[in-house]
Order: sequence, then structure tokens, then C-alpha cells
Amino acid sequence: MDAAEFRKRGKEMVDYIADYLEKIDKRQVFPDVEPGYLRPLIPDCAPQDPESFEDVFKDIEKIIMPGVTHWHSPYFFAYFPAASSFPALLADMLCGGIGCVGFSWAASPACTELETVMLDWLGKMINLPEEFLAGKDGRGGGVIQGSASEATLISLLAARTKTIRRMQSEKPELTEADIMGRLVAYASDQFCATLGTTPCCSFDKLVELGPICTKENIWMHIDAAYAGSAFICPEFRHLLNGVEFADSFNFNPHKWLLVNFDCSAMWVKKRSDLTGAFKLEPLYLQHHHQESGLVTDYRHWQIPLGRRFRSLKLWFVLRMYGVTGLQEHIRKHVRLSHQFEHLVLQDERFELCAEVVLGLVCFRLKGSNDLNKALLESINEAKKIHLVPCHLREKFVLRFAICSRTVESTHVKFAWQHISQLATDLLKTWEQNQHQQ
Ligand SMILES: *Cc1c(COP(=O)(O)O)cnc(C)c1O
Repeated sequence: MDAAEFRKRGKEMVDYIADYLEKIDKRQVFPDVEPGYLRPLIPDCAPQDPESFEDVFKDIEKIIMPGVTHWHSPYFFAYFPAASSFPALLADMLCGGIGCVGFSWAASPACTELETVMLDWLGKMINLPEEFLAGKDGRGGGVIQGSASEATLISLLAARTKTIRRMQSEKPELTEADIMGRLVAYASDQFCATLGTTPCCSFDKLVELGPICTKENIWMHIDAAYAGSAFICPEFRHLLNGVEFADSFNFNPHKWLLVNFDCSAMWVKKRSDLTGAFKLEPLYLQHHHQESGLVTDYRHWQIPLGRRFRSLKLWFVLRMYGVTGLQEHIRKHVRLSHQFEHLVLQDERFELCAEVVLGLVCFRLKGSNDLNKALLESINEAKKIHLVPCHLREKFVLRFAICSRTVESTHVKFAWQHISQLATDLLKTWEQNQHQQ
């Protein structure tokens, strides 16, 4: 493919994507395929000779789409949202076009510098304490990771190195192995300090945890993967109170801030805690600028060496939506979850299982876990909407997460009527079976 064909095909692909997203509500949200569906549909090794773009393109609808779960369908209410917007899609194209690997400042200065400034923008949007910002000569700063899980692992590794060094300076007779064997990580059954847990979007009390961590010299990492985006709205910002006690903080704009996967934002108060743990300086990666407030080598802030120009997505989205546009997006989702909450509350057969704070409603039929498993099964077999369950203590619970950028009140109402009808059908047969037994 030469540049002339790329121009033509690129435009066709943009049209295909725009059509896909514009008419996504016409597609069944969850596919009909069985495990292993794909292998028989394509050759069992790569083609020896090149194929045409047309050949590849026609296989998208034939081979790929039948096996796609449509995360951006307004009938998708599973997991948590995966962010998507047109500005982010365009930025991702540019990222691919530039195609740099920005592991150091010198490897592509714009890639590093835009990321530092975007993380400052984002930090200011959620009113993070100044110490987390890079500014011109700050000791803190932000970095884009691939996922919240990576951010948590990085915090754990950085905390480990920091504690080992502190212990070694206090008790030089101890070896690294002695210290390693005595390290302790404290966690709840949701892992670390969390704002917006995955099963039910509950919030740890940072203002209680924080002072204990400070007093005991414990690294506090806060995971706000989903909920973090909501803190751009002043009415939700209080949920972040206590972040000033943390050493590191993370949330995923790729969940709820319209920046396509992957873009997980992580901040630390002391960048030296990360660079101290991960620094590697082989000669071929050194350059004549030293790491300082102005020169950052992000490879010391992450596990991989290579990194994409992901801050372009943030830059496009923050500029083209503005803070107010993003606030509207969050508020619409929260409004829709309260709409669903009210529908559940009006039906005596159902109960709510957790407080609805943001865009997630946890609910179930009053009754056994088996009954609720059967309800979820009938919902996901009908494939008109898609949900996933969770366990809250011993209870099997259905999660209804407002996900799509384009979901509206009508979709929520439809989803509820559908669930309610399936529950009616289920309860009829369920009671008959109970009588027979
Ligand atoms: C979604 C989620 C994660 C996992 O996010 P990844 O970026 O996929 O690793 C971690 N923690 C919480 C609270 C989440 O909601």
C-alpha cells in the first residue's frame, strides 16, 4: 500500500467506523458465536503472497464482527464503561502515524512533554493537591500507564524499594533479603485503598486510612480506576478528600473520560520514588539531558521500555469537549443510573444491594442466589442487553453499569422493562418447579 492508496483506504475506513458507531444499536450487543468459532473461518497460516485491501476489508463483517461484543452499544451495561469518542479515535490515528516509541525525553520530546503537561491539566481538573503535579520544577508528576493494574503493581514495587532503602539506612546490619522477608502489604478483599470498587462502587474512607499510613510510614496507593473521572464534577470531588495522604493515585480516563483504551493516569508525590526503583541506564539509552523537572525519561516510571504517544488522545479530548463537556457526560451517566435505581425501587420483587453513588446500580430479585443466577442467564441469553454479575458478601448480585457514550433514558427504560418481563416469566416457571419438588 502506497500513500495514495492509504489516503483512499483511510477515508473508507473512517466511513466504516462512523457507520459502525452510528448504527451500533442495530447490532446484537453480545455475539452468537461459540468458543473456537474463528479458527475454521481463516487459513491456518499466514498468506505467502500479499492480498488486497478489499480482501481484508470484506472479512471484517464476515469474520470479525460476528464475534464482537459491542461495548459502545447503548444496550451494553456490563463491567464498567470503556471510553470512546471521535476526538480520541482521531488522536489514536495520529499516534499511529507518528509511531514513535517515547521511552526517554530524547526519544521524542513532544511525546514526553505533552504527557507531563496533560497529566497536570487532568490533575488540576480533579483538584489534586499541588504536590502531585509536575509544574516546571515539581518533585511529583503524572504518567500514563496501560492499566490500573500496572499502576498498582508499580506502586507496590516502588514502595518495596523505598522501604528496603529506609530500613538499610536505619539498620545497616540487615541484608536486603532479611528485609524482603519481613515486608507486609495491607489490603482489604478489594486490594488497596479504593475509590469506587469494581463490584459495587463503594468508597474507602481515605481520611481514616491516610493518617494511619502516614504515622506508620506505609505507602498509600489509591485506585480510583472508574470513579476518578467523576471528580472533575465539584459535587463528587469530596469523595477524593484524603488523597493528600497518598503517595500515589490512579484513575482510568479510558473508563469514563471519553479517552479510548489505553490511558490510565497515575500520579506520584515524589517522582524519585519511581525512578529510584526502576532506573536503568545502559549507554545506548543515555542522553546529555539529565532527568529533572523539565526532562523526564518515562521509562523509569513504568515496567515496559517502549511507550506510545498516548497523551495525544487526552489532548484532543480535553480540548474538544472542554471540562464542561466532560462534566455533562459524567452527569448524564449518573442521572441515568438514578433513573434505573428508581425503576428498581418501584418494583417490590427487587431490592437494591448497594448505594448508588455514580453510574452503577447493584440489584437483585428478593430470593435465592439460584433465582438471580437464572435471571441473569435469561437476560444474557436473550442478548437484547448485556450485564455481568458480582458477589456482595454471599449474595449473587446483578450489576447495571451505565456505559455507552450514546446511551439515553429510552435505552434504560427499555432495559428495565425487558428485565422486568424476564423476571415475570422466570418467577412463573420457578414457582411451578418449587411446587413440583
Ligand atoms: C476497572 C478497575 C481496575 C482494572 O483496571 P485496568 O486498567 O483494566 O487494570 C482496577 N481497579 C478498579 C477499582 C477498577 O474498577
